[in-house]
Amino acid sequence: VKVFLTGGSGFIAAHVLNILLEHGFEVVTTVRSAQKGDKILEAYPNLSKDKLSYVIVEDIAKEGAFDEVLKSGPAYDYVIHTASPFHYNFTDPVKEILNPAINGTKGILNAIKTYVPSVKRVVITSSFAAITHAPNHPKLYDESVWNPVTYEEATKDNKFTTYRGSKTFAEKAAWEFVEKEKPNFDVATINPPFVFGPVIGYLNSLESLNTSNQVITDFALGKKKDDTSPKEHVLWVDVRDVALAHVKAIEVPEAGGKRFFTTEGFLSNKDLVDAIRETQPKYASNLPDYGEVGEIPHLYEIDNSRVRNVLAIQFKPIKESIGDTLASLAKVGL
Ligand code: NDP
Repeated sequence: VKVFLTGGSGFIAAHVLNILLEHGFEVVTTVRSAQKGDKILEAYPNLSKDKLSYVIVEDIAKEGAFDEVLKSGPAYDYVIHTASPFHYNFTDPVKEILNPAINGTKGILNAIKTYVPSVKRVVITSSFAAITHAPNHPKLYDESVWNPVTYEEATKDNKFTTYRGSKTFAEKAAWEFVEKEKPNFDVATINPPFVFGPVIGYLNSLESLNTSNQVITDFALGKKKDDTSPKEHVLWVDVRDVALAHVKAIEVPEAGGKRFFTTEGFLSNKDLVDAIRETQPKYASNLPDYGEVGEIPHLYEIDNSRVRNVLAIQFKPIKESIGDTLASLAKVGL
């Protein structure tokens, strides 16, 4: 069974690839350079070219970016589209963030419809960014909720709004494509909030660490030593659970046509700091001393039952996730 995976060198995609191979799928992944592709192959020295190979797609924002590689590729059964910019060091919100996210999604769906009639399902890495109403939260977050951001706000307000807009409009474009084009495949989206977890081999330095794990390194490196907001909280999930959700979303027939709000739950700064102290005490002196922290009230409720019931994901606890993240980062100099 053949899977086409975009952005294979990414933090989440590296774990998706790992699980796909473990589950016996044959994978062709896209990367932006041969150097990145070769690093992935080096991580799996015993696999033949039939089991794992890469193709180069330098920029998913370009019109027809996926046409050539899909036209000349094998008869894929499934596609997992993870590639999308997730960083805040950009100057042009449209060119650098919105276009790759939105045009990349539209472009790959178009190319599949045109050139790969064998594809049965496309799983897209969306985000809680496409759900959240922050800072004006509704009472409950579940898969029925959509971020109300407008395209204009996404081009203007601030970098977080741009990123969130990119995920919102990319996901909307995918559902609209299915509705209008009635293609040969159905779609499922995975919508995680902050993803933490170990980094797999490709990472060369802490400077190129993926965006979400930087929350953990900021604390471990002492950049938040004077922080006074122990009760501030976010939603989070471990990368291995997110990756498994992607693979289950192609394996479980009922997953088609659904969004999956993939989160373990709430994480306060206090929980995060406690988890670092307990699992990797060598960073203890870099951590803020919050003292006694009372009850932490949540600003909203969440319902993650669809992921647990349909995809049978049992979420990893925060201590395991943080401990494993820091252990993996220690290998690149943390
Ligand atoms: P990474 O930055 O590690 O991965 C992003 C991937 O997309 C990389 O492979 C990157 O390639 C590729 N990419 C970005 N822009 C382009 C482009 N213009 N052309 C081709 N490839 C491109 O981050 P994550 O693994 O965290 O993100 C993966 C997906 O998960 C994204 O869709 C992100 O929005 C989503 N997500 C992440 C969350 C998190 O907390 N980490 C939470 C929710 C959703 P390269 O590295 O070579 O630039």
